[in-house]
Amino acid sequence: MRTPFIVGNWKMFTTPAEAADLAADVSRRLNGILGIEVALAVPYTSLAAVGPTLRGTGIELGAQDLHWEDQGPYTGAISHAMLEALGCRYVLVGHSERREHFGETDHQVNLKVRAAIRGGLRPILCAGEKEGDRNAGRTRAVLRRQIDRALEGIPAGSLGHVTVAYEPVWAVGTGRAASPGDAADAHQTIRRQLERIFSREASRSVRVLYGGSVTPDNVQGFSGEPEVDGVLVGGASLKASDFVRIVQGGWARRPIVG
Ligand code: PEP
Repeated sequence: MRTPFIVGNWKMFTTPAEAADLAADVSRRLNGILGIEVALAVPYTSLAAVGPTLRGTGIELGAQDLHWEDQGPYTGAISHAMLEALGCRYVLVGHSERREHFGETDHQVNLKVRAAIRGGLRPILCAGEKEGDRNAGRTRAVLRRQIDRALEGIPAGSLGHVTVAYEPVWAVGTGRAASPGDAADAHQTIRRQLERIFSREASRSVRVLYGGSVTPDNVQGFSGEPEVDGVLVGGASLKASDFVRIVQGGWARRPIVG
């Protein structure tokens, strides 16, 4: 059994006070939802404000990035231990906005996945093709490469702590979501690759989420696909009512059997 998982990514929005208000609003509205895991990946500067707000609500705290070293002379960077001390359970790794705007490479993504696992955090590894790759028929090849490189050296026993988010770059923040069928196809590619690298059993323990312009109006298309274990939501997670409609409108209705 894989528990459905809905993650909000607040990107570079919210001051600490705004974040605490938004988190409180989400948890009030979600009160009583069972059988689904929900996490909020908030800006570093809001972790200390949101952590206490979420305590005891069942909603998990997440960060949006981490450095790959345990500590050191890396001005401006944040380590797994710092995140863990603030109560984080999850951390996004390799988000397309980090790859695109900050030049993050597959190798760095791998080091970050390793650091997260070493530090007891659960990485949410983002992978997805650019529009040019899609148009050239390279989606599957890009996904296989990203998964191979990101998970190099990760022991099979740790794979259950990893979530993969399929986020086609052309769909993130554009209002152009992938079709549920295309998402399911990409998810199959990801799961087969996990099976090739690790084992069938290990691959079935990994939740694979879809991310890219998910809204309350399109979420049911994704929750209707057995390959899709949940969603990673950016823009629509910044409005509590929309985010909660996404949680309630999708996986609240069905269990996922792995
Ligand atoms: C994201 O930030 O991971 C994301 C999927 O953004 P959006 O939902 O806005 O496309």
